Amino acid sequence: MPQARQEQHPRTIIHRFRQRVLATAFITHPACLLHDMGPSHPECPARLHAIDDQLIASGLSNYLVHAEAPLAGREHLLRVHEAGHISMIEAGGAGAGRLQLDPETAMCAGTLPAALRAAGAGVLATDMVMTGVADTAFCSVRPPGHHAERNRAMGFCFFNNVAIAAAHALDHHGLKRVAIADFDVHHGNGTADIFGTDERVLMVSTFQHPFYPYCGTEIRSPRMVNIPLAAHSGGAEFRAAVKDHWLPALEKFKPEMLFVSAGFDGHRDDDMGMLKLVEADYAWVAQQLKTIADVYSKGRIVSMLEGGYELHALGRSVTAYLKSFGEI
Ligand SMILES: [Zn+2]
Repeated sequence: MPQARQEQHPRTIIHRFRQRVLATAFITHPACLLHDMGPSHPECPARLHAIDDQLIASGLSNYLVHAEAPLAGREHLLRVHEAGHISMIEAGGAGAGRLQLDPETAMCAGTLPAALRAAGAGVLATDMVMTGVADTAFCSVRPPGHHAERNRAMGFCFFNNVAIAAAHALDHHGLKRVAIADFDVHHGNGTADIFGTDERVLMVSTFQHPFYPYCGTEIRSPRMVNIPLAAHSGGAEFRAAVKDHWLPALEKFKPEMLFVSAGFDGHRDDDMGMLKLVEADYAWVAQQLKTIADVYSKGRIVSMLEGGYELHALGRSVTAYLKSFGEI
């Protein structure tokens, strides 16, 4: 028996060491699978399974700190949404069948619990990172959030998860400056709408343009660094936008915490958009953000899943992105 202990002891140390190196929380909840907008809708429950599959197959899942998302409270939602909007979402899924809010966004009975868990994941992630339980956190949740405006659900989004998380860091944890980076193929119009006049928030983004939601270029300020990319742009154009625009803005703003709208629908295999990003680009941007966070933000990064609809590419991209946080 003593011999067995001697054999296991070093492995335990290595295991703990690896956990410490990554210290990435992975937050999700089974209720996020209950939101269903129809059999052929690309924003489908299988997205979360695809992420789980790749994390398990890669071995990375063992080194993540797994946590279940709590329900967001009304006080969390009210920081970024009008009371009337919250009430509308609360009532929207109550009936039988689906309630269509726009041509591609529908509510069912499972939508509200999923949306409250998705928003609650961001709140928990922020708490875990702020209190040092984790260095970084990734919320594998749906519905996504970055199109949800202060008073409007649209584009598969109901509550703006990343905005709720950022507002929690500002209002509950007392931070004075936070940044939100968004590399989804679509512009995060909801996040821009919510924080456009809030001097505590810097938004940096890239997005295909012109493309849904057909905005993003009109608001440009030192705090709204939204960089359009032409259709068929690939890693070279994306990395140039990050290096030339995001990084200088982030270095100047010196955020105390970084939030990421992590959408993977700019992947070349994802026919939702026409960008040509690959796994290495997501790994690269994670390294850039980690470097900024290490210098200015005590390494604090919370990432929220946004888009990503080609299931194989989504799983591989999230894995590459998360692996990158542990390799610096
Ligand atoms: Zn998107």
